[in-house]
Amino acid sequence: MWRWCLGMLLFVSGCATPQYALRSAPVPMESAQVQRLEKMVSDQQATQFAKEGAKPWQFGERLWGFDVQEVVERLAPVTERPALRYQAHLIHDANPNAAALADGRVYVTSGMLQYLASRGSDESELAFVLGHELGHTAAQHIVKRIPQMQRQQLLMSLVGVGAAIAAQRGGSSAQQVGGLTRSAAGLVNQAILSGFSQADELEADQLALRYLMKAGYDPMAPVRMLEDFRKFDKGTPSIQVQGVPIPAPFLRSHPYTERRLQDVQRYLADVKSGHVVAGQPATSAPTVSSIEEQRSRLREAQTLYPPGSQSWKNIQSQLDALAH
Ligand SMILES: [Zn+2]
Repeated sequence: MWRWCLGMLLFVSGCATPQYALRSAPVPMESAQVQRLEKMVSDQQATQFAKEGAKPWQFGERLWGFDVQEVVERLAPVTERPALRYQAHLIHDANPNAAALADGRVYVTSGMLQYLASRGSDESELAFVLGHELGHTAAQHIVKRIPQMQRQQLLMSLVGVGAAIAAQRGGSSAQQVGGLTRSAAGLVNQAILSGFSQADELEADQLALRYLMKAGYDPMAPVRMLEDFRKFDKGTPSIQVQGVPIPAPFLRSHPYTERRLQDVQRYLADVKSGHVVAGQPATSAPTVSSIEEQRSRLREAQTLYPPGSQSWKNIQSQLDALAH
């Protein structure tokens, strides 16, 4: 079992919507134990993707005009984990989607590339899709979803498996090995299947924006894409990309694209007003701004859009909310 990063297009439901926040860059946990855990989780997911026909992106390969590996390699050095081996993979599937594993393997469907091509996307829009995925990897969202206590239990069972195998060679019970392996696998499955929280998705968006700016891509690409995703919120009964119908998960109605768009716009406004320096909150910047400050940042952000456009109206409704 594996899980696509559906958050690229839609959020998993359930949790309360978190507040907008300027987030500090994630500080990677790089202990040998965490790396071991990440490899174990990733190997399990990669096996499943391989069964779905995933193939590593070939050097110089282009599909629908995009060289995915080239974009991944331009983004990788500006992430918080530049030492990981980021390898793009392609899966032939009409459903537009993308996913990243904890160890740097990145997956995109042909449907995603086709969708981007159909809307005449430039490389910056693909870079947003990939940057969002690399954000999940850099912020270690999968490992962080395994509760601290269980993480310890899991690592202990990994050590236990090793010990039991060693003992088995000396004539100990094979049952013990089986039990420990099963409990470890169960925990890993749980972590994978529980998916990402809204907070994880919003953080991945903000990290993607930083990566775009640092790597020299157009930081407005996320705004354009999220505005386009909005049409899927409206429950469009069916959509075809170059004659290929897009399957249901992509169309599932949900209210969160608007929230992602608002957060992306607020972050861009923070960048413009100097509250973010080199992708980080400026040291003197208040993380909770006064209402007056928020208002002036929103007004500034509003100037980025034609008056009366949907984004302009979004910002106006945030301004109106502040007035009450
Ligand atoms: Zn995501």
